[in-house]
Amino acid sequence: MKKIALLLTITVLLFSCKKKDKKETVVGDEKLNVVTTTTMITDLLHNIGGDKIELNGLMGTGVDPHLFKASEGDVNKLFNADVVFYNGLHLEGKLVEVFEKMKHQNKKTFAVADAVSKADLIPSELFDSNYDPHIWFSIQDWKKVTQYVSETLQKVDAKNKDFYAKNGEEYLKKIDVLAKEIETKINELPVDKRILVTAHDAFNYFGKAYDFEVVGLQGLSTATEAGVQDVQKLSNLIIEKKIKAIFVESSVPKRTIEALQAAVKSKGHDVAIGGELFSDALGSKGTEEGTYIGMYIYNTNTIVNALK
Ligand code: ZN
Repeated sequence: MKKIALLLTITVLLFSCKKKDKKETVVGDEKLNVVTTTTMITDLLHNIGGDKIELNGLMGTGVDPHLFKASEGDVNKLFNADVVFYNGLHLEGKLVEVFEKMKHQNKKTFAVADAVSKADLIPSELFDSNYDPHIWFSIQDWKKVTQYVSETLQKVDAKNKDFYAKNGEEYLKKIDVLAKEIETKINELPVDKRILVTAHDAFNYFGKAYDFEVVGLQGLSTATEAGVQDVQKLSNLIIEKKIKAIFVESSVPKRTIEALQAAVKSKGHDVAIGGELFSDALGSKGTEEGTYIGMYIYNTNTIVNALK
């Protein structure tokens, strides 16, 4: 009972899900029940797990993982899953306690960031993990994540081992094609024009890979709001460096970037809003930006075309 007292909120949710367990386990008796957090991870599992898994992504398009709170239904799904994949590095800041609790109960819970070695992570003091969690913007890191997810599925669902292995290999080839395409597009943009101003600092891994200076108005997590001073400082930088365009993000309210644009204008200069980037969530299902590969191409085209 001591442990239960410690994590009261979660426990209340747990008790309520236990009552419902029996009703909800009807679906997918033979298939591996996989629950994921972000849309990027859901897309990856969709590619590797295909029709051999029952896939349940908790976050949809436009959902901000930094602020996402699990509903009672979400906690149910997590505790009833055979396997859970989440990003880790405190990206899902409000779910940390739930994941800890699940690990204590020996649930199969995997942080995909564990696939990336510390040396390849970007340090950050703003997260309890001490690292920037936006690893999907490093294509090389995402390849490691792909390998990790494929190997994990092979272990936990050995009867479909060959299927997952084959899908993993095929998807890695697609990511290699993506990497080449992105490099070609980026090369259209001179290095001195590679300054990326967005609502929050999601693009450091992108910046590191392609030599961009990355400036996020809200810092690494959307949990901290941008202040008036941040807006003033950044507007001066935009004017000084003659930056042509700044970008809104699909999972962050537009008002911060619009305030920045207004601040630049009030000083007698113009900066365009270069378009909407998909940073912490993919686009809608069925659209190009609704997949990881499509999102990466869409973002890169938007950035390069607006800054050229
Ligand atoms: Zn973020």
